[in-house]
Amino acid sequence: MSTVSIHPSVDHGIKPAASGFAGGTLLCKCTDKPVKLSVKSQSAHNHACGCTKCWKPAGALFSVVAVVGRDKLSVAENGDKLAIVDPKATIQRHACKACGVHLYGRIENAGHPLFGFDFIHTELSPQSGWSQPTFAAFVSSIIESGADPAHQGAVRARLRELGLEPYDCLSPPLMDFISTQIARASGVLKPVPPV
Ligand SMILES: [Zn+2]
Ligand SMILES: [Zn+2]
Repeated sequence: MSTVSIHPSVDHGIKPAASGFAGGTLLCKCTDKPVKLSVKSQSAHNHACGCTKCWKPAGALFSVVAVVGRDKLSVAENGDKLAIVDPKATIQRHACKACGVHLYGRIENAGHPLFGFDFIHTELSPQSGWSQPTFAAFVSSIIESGADPAHQGAVRARLRELGLEPYDCLSPPLMDFISTQIARASGVLKPVPPV
């Protein structure tokens, strides 16, 4: 087995999603008055992310991040400890001011193709059964956080060994989804007919 560490939640094998799983809670790392989120659906598009913006546990090369519908997510307890990391960023990451953990990322621009999705880290949940990561995004970007460029071959090999196909942007289905949203918004593609 490779010694390259990707993230503590995938390094020893990936737990599959539980069928019928319908959400749970997420907690920051504070032992006193942790911020608690309630998420009332299964997550989707879970993936390892190498970008410099996503929250990663100490020592991890990648974050593991998924999405849920923003209407399914609410702050249940201690929301006064949350602050937006960078209000100018496309994804506004709401982090605990005390422990630094990012509880959720939200897109406020209604014209953005991923508007309506919140980004969460399911490793913060005491429940298991969340959708498992299925690919790795922005793999080249770990170099921007200080990873040795000479080790990229080993990192990509380990990701493939784990079943996390490495991409340097998002996965092709997610890139296609984003472009479809943009094409529908611009009128290049027909809008989705009402059901
Ligand atoms: Zn905290
Ligand atoms: Zn990221």
